[in-house]
Amino acid sequence: MRYLVYSHDHADHIEGGEVFADTAVVVAHDNAKAVIIGERRPTAVPQVTFSDRMTIELGGTVMELAYVGRNHSNNSIVMRFPRERLLFAVDFIPVNSYVFRDFPDAYMPDWIESLRVVEAMDFDVLVPGHGPLGTKANVVMFREYLEDLRAEVTRYAREGKSLDEIKQQVTLPKYAAWGPKDWFPLNIEGMYRLVQANRLGN
Ligand SMILES: [Zn+2]
Repeated sequence: MRYLVYSHDHADHIEGGEVFADTAVVVAHDNAKAVIIGERRPTAVPQVTFSDRMTIELGGTVMELAYVGRNHSNNSIVMRFPRERLLFAVDFIPVNSYVFRDFPDAYMPDWIESLRVVEAMDFDVLVPGHGPLGTKANVVMFREYLEDLRAEVTRYAREGKSLDEIKQQVTLPKYAAWGPKDWFPLNIEGMYRLVQANRLGN
């Protein structure tokens, strides 16, 4: 192995990297390194980091690494294979799925902006870190979900509704086919926390 590229710092995606540290160059976003060290992630510390873009060419295959802003972490990158028209984007663009639980380690509204950056990229196949493959239409629909959820939670919060009341009232039927079902009320909780963090300054 020549390169080991971390999608972001979360342990479920990078644990065990030390096995390859003596044979591969470990690559990650600039922000990932401090988190991996600080949180003592059980893996190799990145040897090469980048801020915006980096290109790796190996065996005739080109892979473009790009930072698209904060979203599901402050160091998530995408890996684009131009010839294969494929984009690997881990954890911040679930395909036909709600967000993992209550938005741990999430940045809003940066996340929504990062999805618009991905929508402007050239690719056909979306490969997420979990679940089925998708297309650019899945990126658009997921961005609309975040916008719709944020708008609904904000509207009810501004009406003075409690979190319990908001969980009763927000339904978003457009996304009713998504799963897991028990993540939707947790998504409302997480979005409420993120929305409230930027309200009522005085
Ligand atoms: Zn993650």
